[in-house]
Parts: sequence; structure tokens; C-alpha cells
Amino acid sequence: MFEYCDKMVADFENAICHPINNKSSIYYTGVDLGTACVVLAVVDENYKPVAGAYEYADVVRDGMVVDYIGAIHIVRKLKEQLEASIGSELIYASAAIPPGTNELDSGAIKNVVESAGFELTGLLDEPTAANSLLKIENGAVVDIGGGTTGITIMKDGKEIYVADEPTGGTHFSLVVSGAYKVPFEEAELLKRNPGKHKELLPVLKPVIEKVASIINKHIEGHLVETIYLAGGTCCLDGIEKIIEKQTKIPTYKPQNPMFVTPLGIALNC
Ligand code: ATP
Repeated sequence: MFEYCDKMVADFENAICHPINNKSSIYYTGVDLGTACVVLAVVDENYKPVAGAYEYADVVRDGMVVDYIGAIHIVRKLKEQLEASIGSELIYASAAIPPGTNELDSGAIKNVVESAGFELTGLLDEPTAANSLLKIENGAVVDIGGGTTGITIMKDGKEIYVADEPTGGTHFSLVVSGAYKVPFEEAELLKRNPGKHKELLPVLKPVIEKVASIINKHIEGHLVETIYLAGGTCCLDGIEKIIEKQTKIPTYKPQNPMFVTPLGIALNC
């Protein structure tokens, strides 16, 4: 189902570990300033992933840049790191904003990317970016990130409804932190460990059901026959089954939902 997406993300994951120095005439960088994670994805002139880097950071909350200087610092650092690894300057970048974010916030994101040394050539919304890889014509694209859950309903290849709700992976980590009586940072690492997912799923079931109820609220009144998941939080094994049970709608996710949006941003540079 997600052949193109899975291939692109697998190539990207490979390129994060082994950057490709292919002397492309031009490179495009997707900058994803997320609530939990800042990701830079680099594609070449043929839109093939060649390098990538990411850092967990607390510079954006609910889609708003709350640590402007910190955000610039991280983007600039990752840019320089990537330039060194591919042996080329990175000039052009695109960025994304969560649906419903106002002009002021998109201005802040634009300023961060430009202050980090890029020329901004594209600014799009996150669901559109994700769908550049998922290529969904009909159904709901649900992007569960660190701070928010974005819901986009597609009909005949067009977005007919978008929403963004302030529940995401951070809330999952808070639940783990409370249940295991460990600090948030430890809970975050526990949650990202695939070896722990089976044990954590019953603990996280109520918060997943909350996300499912948010999805239900937004798709009510629309004819949604399939749900497609993206976003780092959907890396959690079994999340799709709980969402499917609660929404009663067949739910699918690509092999690695984490890098779908950043790569999609790079493709829209
Ligand atoms: P937002 O879209 O809300 O601005 P973001 O862009 O930072 O946030 P993503 O990068 O899509 O969001 O996802 C980050 C979230 O995914 C974090 O909460 C992180 O803990 C979670 N996450 C990452 N990897 C895993 C994993 N393997 N298992 C479970 N959760 C994971």
C-alpha cells in the first residue's frame, strides 16, 4: 500500500547513517520544526534522499516557536553537519506549518529557517507534506506528532477538511512517566524503545483511545472509509489496532511513520 513511501523512508533512514555524496547539481532540504523533534531531510536533484539529521528539542509548542534562538541554533547546527557530510552547501529549504497555524507562526518558522542560513523556497502545511509520500486520494490522514494530532480528510486527491488538536506523543510520555514513576526524559526513552512497546501498550491504551475519540469527532459527518497514520507517535507498535477498534475504520500505517512529514517537506522545496 505504501510502497513509494516505505522505499523513500527506508532510503532516508539509510542516508541518515550513510550520507550520499553524489555531487548533485542542487540539493533541497526539508526542515521540520516539530514539537518534539527538529528534522532536516535532504534530497538531490532527482528528489532522492541523500542525507538527514534530527535532534529532539523543546523549541516549538503547539505549532508555535517558543524558543526562537534555540530553534535557529539547532537548524544551523544540523545544516552544517549535513553540509560537511555531503561535501556541498545546502541553500534551498522548505518548511511546514501545522494546519490552522496563523500567519504570525508561519512567519516565525520562515525566520528560523532563513536565519539558519537557508533560502526558503516552500512553505506548506504538514498534512500536505505527509501526503506527498503517502499519496492518499480518499480517506483521513492522521499525523500524530509530539505535541499535536493533525487530521486531514482527503476526497479525490483534495484536502476537504483539516484540523490540529493539542494531543500527541508528549502526553504518551507523561502517562508512562506517571505509571512507571520515572522522570519525563526517562519515560520518553522508554516509550521510543520498540522492545518495550508490548509492555507499554496496555498502559497507553487510554491515551490512544483519547486520540481515537479526537479522530472520531473530526471525521463525523464525512464519509471516511480508511485512516492512514503518520507521525513519530505512530511508531508505537499496535497503536493502529486500538485506533481501528475505536473508530471502526480500517487503519494503516507505513513502515516508519516518523520521517514521512520531513521527507514530504523536502519534496515540496
Ligand atoms: P508535532 O508534529 O506535534 O509538531 P513533531 O514533528 O516533533 O511534533 P514527530 O517528529 O512526528 O513529531 O514525532 C515525535 C514524537 O514521536 C515524540 O513524542 C516521540 O517520543 C515519538 N516517537 C518517536 N519515535 C518513537 C518510537 N519508536 N516509538 C514511540 N514513539 C516514538
